[in-house]
Amino acid sequence: MTPFSACIVAAGRGTRAGSAVPKQFAMVAGKPLLRWSVEVFAAHPACRQIIIAIPASERGRAGTALTGLDVAFVNGGETRTRSVRACVGKADQPLVFIHDAARPGLTSATIDRLLDALETAPGSAPALPMADALARVAGRGVEPVSRDGLMRIQTPQAFHTSAIVNAFETAGGADFPDEVSLARAAGLDVTLVQGDEKAFKVTFPDDFSRAEAALSAATGLPVMGTGFDVHRLRSGEGLHLCGVFITCDMALVGHSDADVGLHALTDAVLGAAGAGDIGQHFPPSDQRWRGADSAQFLVHAMELAREAGIRPVHADITLICERPKIGPLRDAMRARVAELTGLAPARVNIKATTTEKLGFTGRGEGIAAQAAFTGVLT
Ligand code: MG
Repeated sequence: MTPFSACIVAAGRGTRAGSAVPKQFAMVAGKPLLRWSVEVFAAHPACRQIIIAIPASERGRAGTALTGLDVAFVNGGETRTRSVRACVGKADQPLVFIHDAARPGLTSATIDRLLDALETAPGSAPALPMADALARVAGRGVEPVSRDGLMRIQTPQAFHTSAIVNAFETAGGADFPDEVSLARAAGLDVTLVQGDEKAFKVTFPDDFSRAEAALSAATGLPVMGTGFDVHRLRSGEGLHLCGVFITCDMALVGHSDADVGLHALTDAVLGAAGAGDIGQHFPPSDQRWRGADSAQFLVHAMELAREAGIRPVHADITLICERPKIGPLRDAMRARVAELTGLAPARVNIKATTTEKLGFTGRGEGIAAQAAFTGVLT
């Protein structure tokens, strides 16, 4: 895959109706508008450099909006063409992608289609057909315009870097509405690829709610999983529950440390990730897990959940036993589970119940645990 530099134009000073914040920094579905497409580029394996044109006065705000992302800034020019030229002048990769910050719905699939097209053409851009009828309004007259052969051109617009640099030279100081126009003026071939309706440009106040709906639907979906586990009790010198060792006259029987609370939560996390159950990942027949600290099972399940695109939100564990008394240990268990899952302690709940002396838990033959784990798709 040929590596590319991403140039993002965020130099506008347009403000959302009723807001003092320039459009590119307005919050959409929990993130500043600009951050959405920067994250998509940053996650793409062929993207090696991200350059953003912003007004010099907005550096502080842009830095905050993009915390944790590796980007370079250039000062935006008076026009789009000048801003893009300033970005492209810094590009150090063989290909360059030029994108509007106001299109937060960018996807890696679109980037891949553009990269494919650049294998055989010096330029490529995403395009969509026209659905609505068109008309030219002249004075009081309305003159229909045929939509045959007309397409809507989106961004990113992608080029061989040397070709677009030459196109800027050819253009002199002229301004263009986009880089496809610039490229065509310089005689460069541009191949159109399938665009994406969700990558529309946020332009009018109503577009913010449309973008909010589109981006939340894609990334905010909740996922959850449940788990249940039982281990037998014998007399002994202590047991592990929810990652905390409790000195008492009992022990839990199992191949690992038999931490029934962590096992139930591990199964819940695997459930949310669609990754099977704890026995598949850590079979009792495997000598490696003999006496193992169950913390590592939970940590592994959390990694699988993150790989499945799940951001953890909440964990809830119920321990079912007559003894030991859980109340005095609750805070320590909560802190340990928070540490293992990366959740804030406030997002971890530990509770206990008895079965009124009924059944195997009531008779003290074993301890049962159930758990629920909640996350959102990112
Ligand atoms: Mg178990």
